[in-house]
Order: sequence, then structure tokens, then C-alpha cells
Amino acid sequence: MMKLALFAGDGIGTEVSSEAVSVLKFVLDENGAAYEIEEGLVGGASYDEYKNPITEKALKLAKESDAVIFGAVGGPKWESLPIALRPEKALLTLRYELGLYANLRPAKIYDELIDASPLKKEIVSGTDMMIVRELTGGIYFGQPRGVFDMEDGQKKGVNTLVYTTNEIKRIAKIAFEIARKRRKRVLSVDKANVLESTELWRQVVAAVSKDYPDVELSNMYVDNCSMQLIRQPKSFDVIVTTNMFGDILSDESSMVAGSIGMLPSASLNGKKGMYEPIHGSAPDIAGQNKANPLAAILSVAMMLRYSFDMDNLAAAIEKAVERVIKKGYRTLDIYSNSAGTKLIGTKEMGKAVISELKDVEARA
Ligand code: NAD
Repeated sequence: MMKLALFAGDGIGTEVSSEAVSVLKFVLDENGAAYEIEEGLVGGASYDEYKNPITEKALKLAKESDAVIFGAVGGPKWESLPIALRPEKALLTLRYELGLYANLRPAKIYDELIDASPLKKEIVSGTDMMIVRELTGGIYFGQPRGVFDMEDGQKKGVNTLVYTTNEIKRIAKIAFEIARKRRKRVLSVDKANVLESTELWRQVVAAVSKDYPDVELSNMYVDNCSMQLIRQPKSFDVIVTTNMFGDILSDESSMVAGSIGMLPSASLNGKKGMYEPIHGSAPDIAGQNKANPLAAILSVAMMLRYSFDMDNLAAAIEKAVERVIKKGYRTLDIYSNSAGTKLIGTKEMGKAVISELKDVEARA
């Protein structure tokens, strides 16, 4: 029995996750999978009910589930609250409490949406990469940290870049496992020429690679990588890197793919994971049936692949999304008024994906 927690959250979070769950239920029902989806409140919705963006009950639900589907949280209504009570606190608490140490962000360009990327068509065409970012270690968490007074009256700002062998090993393993399901290439990104902690990173990744002789490993310095991502994005398959380098490179890579409404993500602790679109609650379009649900739909596809090894069902959803795009269906964020395209809403986009899945089934 697959046990899933659903935290739709606020704003368009509720709209896009409703479509994602419909698509998920469709594929699971068609394949006779046993599952249970329990809904919980997080973010502003939880604050309104309990004066707390994430309750013990919601955390318990997340911990007892095999995977978590997350929409988005936040909005102007809660912006003046103290940080500890703001909706976004729910997301950080879930990441921390579930120990989600690996963040996966795919960046793939659909040929039909190529104009949405600020890069030239010939450069982005064919791009399909996955960034695996370490999420719970490195300079964002290392001690000592803080701003300290110095004897001469100046101040000193300190952060510490720390990685242990085990932290590097577990993220490297995830990258190699993912590469096995893709084009079997891992690029480890570091700054080993300057930073000792990433020299260790490079050594440990190389040691882990011995267990994956079918996957090709290469290394690149982060400064060069940031340049190559723009110069030849299609040359990348899986990139594995530290928390801060991954933070920066994954945002850079998302521009290659165009709209934020197309980009899913996964945060993993082994097989357990939380799956969410990378966008927020988009208060400017919330409640208007305008949001693009494809990032949320692609996030449940990632869940099927990474938490449940249901690669065939994940691929079916991804294929259906591709076909919907090919047929010219567009939500506002990816609409360009070009010939053959049709502007549709959130709900219609969800239905279009399900009807593609039905079509494929009917032909099989
Ligand atoms: P946002 O991602 O919500 O929106 C940025 C822009 O992209 C907006 O113009 C929005 O309309 C558009 N957009 C986003 N998703 C879209 C979709 N699926 N389809 C079509 N258009 C889409 O970021 P923001 O405006 O900076 O933040 C709004 C709220 O969301 C804030 O409270 C912020 O803290 C929160 N936020 C939450 C998360 C999360 O829950 N993971 C992530 C980012 C921001």
C-alpha cells in the first residue's frame, strides 16, 4: 500500500495539486495500484486554522507517509507575521524534519516552448539535465557561523563550508542511481582547486563511482560549469554538487527551460521524498484558473519514479505532458499567440493530460 500525504497549501498550490492528484489517481487506478492519500493543512491555510504554519499532526502525517505531495505556500495575507509563523516555515520544517538531503531539479526544454527560453534556439534545443543538490549540509549549515566583534573594532562575518564523508557518499549515490535511469553520466561540480572540503567531495564521489562502473563520472569546477550551462546546456546529464553551488546552478539551469510553471522538483531522503513544483503560490493569478499545473503534474511523475520505482507510469505522464504541449495547449505563462496554439485554464490542462493518457491506453 502506497501511503501519500498531500499538502496543497495556499494560492495556486491548491489548484495545481488538485490537477496533479487527478492525474496521479488516474494512472494508479488504471494500473491497479493500492494507495491512500491523506490531506493535511500547511502554510497560511494551517495558520488560519491553528495559528501555526505546520502542526504536529501535519508533521506526523508527513513522517508516516511514503511520500509527500506539496503544492505551494505563502501570500500577502500572512506577510506581516513573524518569520516563525509565516507559511514558508512549513516548507523548511518539512525539509528538516524529514531529513531531505537531496534536492533534484530537472531542467528540460520542450521544442515547442523553445521561444520561452532567453537563450538561442540552437543552444537550448535538446537540453535535458538533472541537478542533484546537497540540501542539508555545506556552508548553509556549517559551524561556526555568525557576525563577531573583533578586537580592533571591526566586525567579522563567518560561515563554514563543512562536508563529511558520509554526507558526500549519500548524495553521490543518489546521483549515480539517477544517472542509471537516464543517460548514465554524472558530472560532479566542485571548487577542488581552492577549497579543501570540496577536494574531499571530489575524492569521495570518485570512490562511490567504483560501485557504478556503468556510469561515466567527470568533474568540473563550479566557475567553468556556470559558463558551460549557458554555452552548451545540452551537454549535461546529471550534475551533482554542494548546497550552495547547487542553489545557484539550479536557478541558472531553470532559465534554460523557460517558464517556472513547467519545472518540477523532488527532495529526497533515500526513497522517501517530498515532491513539489518549484514555483510559489502566485497570489497574482490565484483562484482564477490561470495557473499552469504541469510542474505539479511532472512532480508526481518524479514521485512515481524516485519513491516507488514506477518508471513506466512516470514516463507515461511525462509523455502525455509532451503530447499536450505538441498539440498546442497552453496556459497563460507559456502562451505566445502563435499559430496552432490554444489558451486554456488550469483545470482544462489537467484534463488534457488525462485524456492523452487515455488515448495512449486506447491505442495499446
Ligand atoms: P511565485 O513563484 O509564486 O510567482 C512568480 C511569478 O510566476 C508570478 O507572476 C506568478 O504568477 C508566476 N507563476 C508562478 N507559478 C506559476 C504557474 N504554475 N503558472 C503560471 N504562472 C506562474 O513567486 P512569488 O510571487 O515571488 O511568491 C509568491 C508567494 O509564494 C510568496 O509568499 C512566496 O514566499 C511564496 N513562495 C513559496 C514557494 C513554495 O511554496 N515552495 C516557493 C516560492 C515562493
